[in-house]
Amino acid sequence: MDVTRRRFLKIAGLGIASLPLTRLGLNLGGAEAYAAGFKLEGTKEVISICPFCSVGCHIIVHVRNGRMVSTEGDPDYPVSEGALCSKGAAMLSMHKEDHRLTKPLYRAPYSDHWEEKSWEWMLDRIGRRIKDTRDRGFIRRNDKGQEVNRVDSIFQLGTSQMDNEECALSHQFLRGLGVVHIDHQARI
Ligand code: SF4
Repeated sequence: MDVTRRRFLKIAGLGIASLPLTRLGLNLGGAEAYAAGFKLEGTKEVISICPFCSVGCHIIVHVRNGRMVSTEGDPDYPVSEGALCSKGAAMLSMHKEDHRLTKPLYRAPYSDHWEEKSWEWMLDRIGRRIKDTRDRGFIRRNDKGQEVNRVDSIFQLGTSQMDNEECALSHQFLRGLGVVHIDHQARI
């Protein structure tokens, strides 16, 4: 039988957990089968990759009817051996929690409340503000007269909700504007 590391841990865990009660003569077969099948019953197991940093931890995703039901670290992945940091561990809640924002919210200067806005309105406004700030602060030459074409007045801190590809695109976009102050949450 091909026993993977993950399967071995499952078998070992089940054996340890059931040892004391089976010694009392209790038959736990039915209860164990019920508990094992409860949460993940009817799910399909898919190996995915955490998108939040270049460690690329494998995540076992349990899917039912096209929806994520549960996630866990993959003990067979040699880099993290089943461990996930808080970002990878929170992947499921990021996917399905009801309190996630689904529409842009805007709070005007000096206002005490948030207003719901459309994506079109929000993107136009962000674009306008970036362009104006960039044009105002653009530095073509430094004090020595050397051509530098840079912007010191904008700083970007990438979020952990961006995957690697989004980070690459964002980086290229900012460099194109001349922005030099760029950092990312995953590095902090
Ligand atoms: S963010 Fe955390 S869980 Fe995700 S790949 Fe990086 S170390 Fe792994």
